[in-house]
Parts: sequence; structure tokens; C-alpha cells
Amino acid sequence: MEKKYILILKGTILFTPTAGKFEIHPDSYLIAQGGLICGIYKDLPEKYKDLTIEDYGNSLIIPGFVDLHTHAPQFNQIGLGLDYKLLDWLNHYTFQEENKFRQIEYAQKVYEKFADTLVSSGTTRSAIFATIHPKSCQILFEILKKKGLGAYLGKVNMDTKCPDFIKENTQQSLANTEELILAWSDSELVKPIITPRFAPTSTRKLLEGLGKLALKYNLPVQSHLAENPGEIEWVQALFPEHDAYYKVYDHYNLFGQTPTLMAHCIHLTDDEIDILATKKVVPVHCPDSNLNLTSGIMPTRKMLKAGVNIGLGSDIGAGHSLFMPQIIVRAIQLSKIYSLQHEEDAPLTLPEAFYMATKGGGSFFGKVGSFEPGYAADAIVIKNENLPSELSPLEEIQRFIYTGSAQNIAARYTAGKKL
Ligand SMILES: [Zn+2]
Repeated sequence: MEKKYILILKGTILFTPTAGKFEIHPDSYLIAQGGLICGIYKDLPEKYKDLTIEDYGNSLIIPGFVDLHTHAPQFNQIGLGLDYKLLDWLNHYTFQEENKFRQIEYAQKVYEKFADTLVSSGTTRSAIFATIHPKSCQILFEILKKKGLGAYLGKVNMDTKCPDFIKENTQQSLANTEELILAWSDSELVKPIITPRFAPTSTRKLLEGLGKLALKYNLPVQSHLAENPGEIEWVQALFPEHDAYYKVYDHYNLFGQTPTLMAHCIHLTDDEIDILATKKVVPVHCPDSNLNLTSGIMPTRKMLKAGVNIGLGSDIGAGHSLFMPQIIVRAIQLSKIYSLQHEEDAPLTLPEAFYMATKGGGSFFGKVGSFEPGYAADAIVIKNENLPSELSPLEEIQRFIYTGSAQNIAARYTAGKKL
């Protein structure tokens, strides 16, 4: 994008510079230059007067959503097999589906649909798992780039404790990963991330090699942690030298040595929650997935009180929707159920969960998810509903988050560029 490109959006600007409170600028101008926010103005400054204004009337303009945990190859299995719990669901559905991505024609079809759905849903940034297959992973990199989306994308690594048809040779797995890193490290919006599926499907050699790659190329890491009691017991049996699940990742430089996302983090001790905070590891709350696979409820309030920065994830296909407003709603609903059993932990509020899906999760990408000066101009426009009585901007966002759909989104921008 040319550095001088100036974007001017007019509407009612709404975002969460801090967790827990919406900042609202009715009838204002949001101005970005070279893909970065310059500021919000009630009156258009003189120097911009001759430029094109994208005038959305009194529609809401909010930051694009950030999905910090999702599995692109599971797009075609959304809603299937959700009467299983995690390990059976992996064996009965997911591994079979992911095996189809050895065919690049299949990958092309599913990944196009996946990326189109991200765009229509207003998700401008995401952290994505592909499969073990390097060629289809390369295709997903290209599709995301073509659509103008921002993403961290990881080729999945797994070399043990999974069916042979989807099990990698350790050295080949590391070599294929490094090849993709070299091809995509300098890309502007779509970048590689180290992605061991989770500890049980990784040998010590694989984890060691992946940790080395993360440090060598200063790359972020994503994986799964403490989703399900059966999984935790399995990790303890496989790695008896470590007395906690997270220590398996930590030992191999895959836990906060570089920026790290850990999906789920449901069954952690208080000490482990404190370690997330000190190591600045971002737990990704995937409420739909946690409900569907009967995994449990992440103690979000307890984590916030411990100073942890939480992100939100759709986690399809264990989750059943890529539409982040519904993930926001489910996170709030689960926190309400949790608070019934834990009086000291108040439920999440809407602006708190909105923050997780914008600035909180966005911080993994740098200055993303807010409209403060210097932030990436990632924005979506929410169409007004023609209701018999007018809603305030605060009511409009409440209505959209709870009842909206992709059809309510009129426009999407990533880094100042219209999608
Ligand atoms: Zn996952």
C-alpha cells in the first residue's frame, strides 16, 4: 500500500481503549494514513477537505474483530460430531477431515470459503491452525493475502500419538515448517506462527526443534493447554518428567519465550494462572468449543484479576461459528454461569468481552484493535437497523453483538484497505 494513502470514514465511532468501557464519538471522522489511525475528529480538519469521504451516516464504526484461535481445515466439519468429547472427537472426525488436505484441490475449495467467511464476519485478524500439509498451508497463506486479511498462520506439527495417515516424520516436519517460515516471514499482513498441535501429539525432538525455530526466527507460538481433564492426565503420563502441563511447552522454549497463544486454559491452578500473567502468555477463551465438547468453563474473571490478557477464539470446528459477536455473547453467558458457583467472580460485561475480541486480542498483532493514534486502521461498519424507536449508540452495539449477523456489516477495512 502506498504510504500516503488517506482513508476518511464518517459515522459514529465506537471502541474500547480500556477494558470495561466503550468510548463513543457520535457523528465524527476517523482518519487513517498509510494504514494507521491519525485521529478522530468532530469537524473535518481543513487539510482533508478536498479528499474523498466514505460517509456512513450515523452507522457505527467499530474495530475489526480478532479471532485468536481457529482451525481453517475444520471449516467443513462445523457442527459435526459434537456429542463427543475432545479426544474422541479428534479421532472420529477431525483427523479424518484434516487428512483430506493432502489434496490441494480440496484445500483450495475449503480455504476459499473459510477466508470469505472471515471477511463477511468482520474478522480482520486471526490466529489460524492449518494442517500438517505444507502445500495446502502455502495455499491458505496465499488466499489470506489475496483477501487482504491479517493473520498468523501455522502449519500444524504432529509426529506421534495420532493415526499414521496424519503422522509426520520429525525431521521432515521441522524442515517443511522452516521452508514456510522463510517464504512468509517478510509478508506484511499474513505471517507464520509455530504451531505444535498440542503436547500429546509431539515427541520431545519435535518440541525441541520447534522451540529452536521460534527463537531463531523470533516467531510467536500457538498451541492448546489444559482443555480437558483426560488430555491433562494423558500429558502427565507421556511427560512424567514435568509436574505440570505448561512445563512441557516451557521446557522447549514454547511458552512465553516469544509471544505465545494457548487455547482454552480451563483447568489451571491459581499458581499456573499467575505464571500466564508473568510470562505474558495469552490464554484464548473459546466458549462455544468449550461448551460443545463439554470441556469446562475458563475462569475469566479470576484470570483478569491475576493480570492476564485474555483473547477470544471461535475454535471451529469444535466451535460452530466464525462470527465473533456470538463468541463475545457466549463468553459473557459462560461467565454468568461460572459466577453462580463462584460468588467472588463477577460475570464479564459487554465492553470487557468486546475488548477481548478487539484491543485485548489485537495486542498480539501489535497496535491492533483500537482507534487510538498509531493503531492499524482495522474497522468495520455496522448498518443501522430501521427500528420504530431510535437506539443510542450504546444500545446499537448491544443489539448488534447479541442479535446481529454478517448481513449487518456494510464494510470492512484491514490496515486502511477496504476488503
Ligand atoms: Zn483448537
